[in-house]
Amino acid sequence: MKQVNSEYDVVVVGGGPAGSAAAGLLALDGHSVLLVEREKFPRYHIGESLITGIWPTINRLGLHDRLEAMGFQRKYGGSLRWGQGPLKPWSFKFSETGDGKYDHAFQVRRADFDMMLLQHARELGVHVVEDATVREPVADGERVTGLRYRIRGEDADIEVASRMVIDASGQQRWLGRHFDIVGWHEDLRNIAAWSYYQGCGRYEGELAGNILTENMPHGWLWFIPLSDGTTSIGYVTLSSELAVSGLSPEQMLERQISESSEVKRLTEDATRVSGYRTARDWSYVCDRFSGPGWILCGDAAAFIDPLLSTGVTLAMRGASTVERAVHAALVEPDSEARVFKEYEDSYRSFLSALLEFVRFFYDRTKSREEYHKGAQAIIDPQQHFPAHVDFVTLVSGLARGDDTADEAMEPTR
Ligand SMILES: Cc1cc2nc3c(=O)[nH]c(=O)nc-3n(C[C@H](O)[C@H](O)[C@H](O)COP(=O)(O)OP(=O)(O)OC[C@H]3O[C@@H](n4cnc5c(N)ncnc54)[C@H](O)[C@@H]3O)c2cc1C
Repeated sequence: MKQVNSEYDVVVVGGGPAGSAAAGLLALDGHSVLLVEREKFPRYHIGESLITGIWPTINRLGLHDRLEAMGFQRKYGGSLRWGQGPLKPWSFKFSETGDGKYDHAFQVRRADFDMMLLQHARELGVHVVEDATVREPVADGERVTGLRYRIRGEDADIEVASRMVIDASGQQRWLGRHFDIVGWHEDLRNIAAWSYYQGCGRYEGELAGNILTENMPHGWLWFIPLSDGTTSIGYVTLSSELAVSGLSPEQMLERQISESSEVKRLTEDATRVSGYRTARDWSYVCDRFSGPGWILCGDAAAFIDPLLSTGVTLAMRGASTVERAVHAALVEPDSEARVFKEYEDSYRSFLSALLEFVRFFYDRTKSREEYHKGAQAIIDPQQHFPAHVDFVTLVSGLARGDDTADEAMEPTR
């Protein structure tokens, strides 16, 4: 075992959107931060369709102009062939939230988006170590006081001490598994298969960058237009449905495309340009989000379902709230339990609203108006705003009053 003499204020596990954003913001606060990432960036990642809920954290990081300049496909909203009756897709625009702040997000290549965030964390002073896997926490009694990691190809662990450990290890759930605190959403035990296609049709004008979501009898298809002319197409269904079908995930994806309506029309002249990828078992929430000396952020804390494209937004908003809690705890150690609980309460409340709506939305027997009203019942029960505005606010991942800061995680008004 190699001992590293330096002690950091914070060690962050994972350099995805949650880890890079939390690390960068804490460095901006003046803390010494080490970030340990298993891969060498740029690395592939699923999760390409962003929503406007990313903006408050992007702005806090000072990355607005850099993100705008990256040339990603602009996304002004979403199109859905979803629910009872609609033969034609219906669309929403982010600008319909009515506050005029955020009218677009992007469809991104995550390798490039995540690389930009990690590089920015470095520029803000974070010490980033890539190609290094975090193995176990170091504890003093109940308190986590550091961790051990190993660099690829080395045969000894490196131990570092830190006043706070942030787990942003994504679906690896490093601490969630260590403490055995991961609880699964059994009704969302889904599987996804996806690939990339060239030559797909696109909608006209501002709709051209929309994600298209099409419901199928036993699942749904995503269609995400990327800036290089490639389209990401995936199919999500219950794992049990795949088992019954007797198909491989790849066969299932191609069959669903061929049996769809809108996605089929848009892929008539398309060619697949990459292999297939699959993912499964991703919907869970940890029983606790923090303990003495440690806190969970992004997918390491919870993940709902890709249906509303909320993953990266949750990771970045979560990072912003985690940074405030960790900064407060470092400045005033006696406040740690209280500020960590406040983070957990607000994050759980945001997640619960999204989860409730995802479950409601998965019922494909409803009309567009009923989906709008369902969103209103969750985030605006007093009906201060029209139902379609509440729907767009919810699927944008924004909270009312989001602007300079994103203190409140709750989407309620
Ligand atoms: C099928 C599917 C489709 C999706 N589509 C979308 C979408 O369209 N839009 C959207 O916003 N979200 C989507 N998501 C969700 C999105 O991918 C995640 O929510 C998002 O990446 C979470 O960010 P994160 O930083 O928490 O974790 P990640 O981005 O996964 O980052 C975690 C990092 O931790 C590193 N790591 C893991 N273990 C260790 C370790 N032991 N030591 C060191 N490093 C470690 C990993 O290498 C990784 O780089 C989708 C998810 C799935 C499964």
